[in-house]
Amino acid sequence: MTDHFDTIVIGAGVMGSAAAYHLAKDGRRPLLIERFEIGHTLGSSHGESRIFRFAYNNPDYARLAMQCLPHWRALEADSGERLLEIIGGLDLTHDPAHYPDVEAVADALSQVGARFEQLDAAQIATRYPQWRLGDAAQAVFSPDSGFLRATRCVQVLVAQAAKYGATVREREPVTEIIPGQPVEVITAAGRYRANHLIITGGAWINELIRFVGVQLPVQIEQEQVTYFTPLRNAESFRRDRFPIFIHWRSPITGYGFPIIDTPGVKVGFHHEGHFIDPDIPRQPRDEATQRVWAYVREHLPDAAGAPFEPTACLYTTTPDQNFVIDFAPDFDNVVICSSCSGHGFKFGAGIGRALADLVEHGATEMNIGHVRMRTFARQFAD
Ligand SMILES: Cc1cc2nc3c(=O)[nH]c(=O)nc-3n(C[C@H](O)[C@H](O)[C@H](O)COP(=O)(O)OP(=O)(O)OC[C@H]3O[C@@H](n4cnc5c(N)ncnc54)[C@H](O)[C@@H]3O)c2cc1C
Repeated sequence: MTDHFDTIVIGAGVMGSAAAYHLAKDGRRPLLIERFEIGHTLGSSHGESRIFRFAYNNPDYARLAMQCLPHWRALEADSGERLLEIIGGLDLTHDPAHYPDVEAVADALSQVGARFEQLDAAQIATRYPQWRLGDAAQAVFSPDSGFLRATRCVQVLVAQAAKYGATVREREPVTEIIPGQPVEVITAAGRYRANHLIITGGAWINELIRFVGVQLPVQIEQEQVTYFTPLRNAESFRRDRFPIFIHWRSPITGYGFPIIDTPGVKVGFHHEGHFIDPDIPRQPRDEATQRVWAYVREHLPDAAGAPFEPTACLYTTTPDQNFVIDFAPDFDNVVICSSCSGHGFKFGAGIGRALADLVEHGATEMNIGHVRMRTFARQFAD
C-alpha cells in the first residue's frame, strides 16, 4: 500500500520540522519522517539552548538571521509558547590575533544596519566583571542576541505542523529513496510517494542523498556542552547580567550561556575536532569536560564549580563551514538541506520557510544565495 503526499520531509531535526511546519501551514499536508523519536538526543537539535544572534563575521548570515527572527516570533504567536529570549550577546577576544574576527563582526553588523557597541578592556571589566580577559581584551556587544529553547523548538514545530495537517511518522528510518516523478520513499515500515522531497538528514545526510546521486564533503564531529555550578556570585550569571558569548581564541573558540533553567553556566568549545561515525553509540568525553573546565577556571573563575550534565551533540561540517541548501543537481523535485556546520539552529524557522518556498515556488526571498551550492554538490557527486 503506497500513500501519496505533496511533499515528504526526511528528518525531524530543527530544519525538517520547520520545513514541515511551513508546508503544513501553507496547506500542503506534508509527511515528516524521523528515524528516532521526536526531540531525541542523538542528532544536532537537542538541548536546553542554542545561541541566536545577528552577530556574524559575514553579512550574509547576519542578514539571514535578521530574516529568521520574525519566523521564530510567528511560531511563538502560533503556539503560545516563548521559545526565543533576547538578552544580548558578546563577541570577545583577549588575543590580538583574533581582533580581526571581532572587527569583522562589527563590520558585518554595521553593513546590515544592526545595533552594536564596541567595548575595550576597561569597559568589559566594568560591565562584565565575571570575565578575566586581561588588558588586551576587545568585545562587540549585540543587544539582538539571545537563546532559543532548542528541544522545545523542535517539539513545538512538529506539534504545530501536525496541527496544520502534517502526518508525522517517528521511529521510522528511511531505507531507500527512488527519485523520479513521483519520488518514492521506502522506510522500515512503509512506502510513500510524493511530488516533492526535502532531505534534512543531519549527520546522516550522505546516507540519504546517495540515492539522488550526490555526496557532500562533510565531516561529523562529536561536540560537547557542559554546565558549571557557580562557586560564588551565582546571581552575576543570570540572564540579565551575563550575555551569551562567543570567545574568539586560539586554539579553539569558546561559547556559552547564562543560567537559564538548569542551575549552571553552560559552556562549550566550537569544533572540538573529534570526528566520529554517527552510528556508533557515543558518550560525553571526560577529556572534553576537563578541557572546558580549565577554560572556565581561567576566564570565568566564579563560575568554575563542579561540572555537570555534559551532553554530546553532532556537528556536520562542510570544508568552508557554510550550509548547503539546494535542489539535487539532477532532480528538481528534491531539495537537500545540510545546515549544521555547528551554527544552523538559529536559522531553523527561516530555513524551514526557504525549504517550503523552494518546493512551492522554486525560489525564496530568504537570504540563502550564499549557500545555494548546486555546483559544489555536483562536484562531489558519485
Ligand atoms: C553542541 C552543539 C551546539 C550548537 N550550538 C548552536 C548555537 O548556539 N546556535 C546555532 O545556531 N546552532 C548551534 N548548533 C548547530 C545546530 O544545532 C544545528 O545546525 C542544527 O540543529 C542542525 O539541524 P538539522 O535539522 O540539520 O540536523 P538534525 O537535528 O541532526 O536533524 C536531522 C534528523 O534527520 C534524522 N534522520 C537521519 N537519517 C534518517 C533516516 N534515514 N530516516 C529518517 N530520519 C533520519 C535524524 O535522526 C535527525 O533527527 C549547535 C550544535 C551542537 C551539536
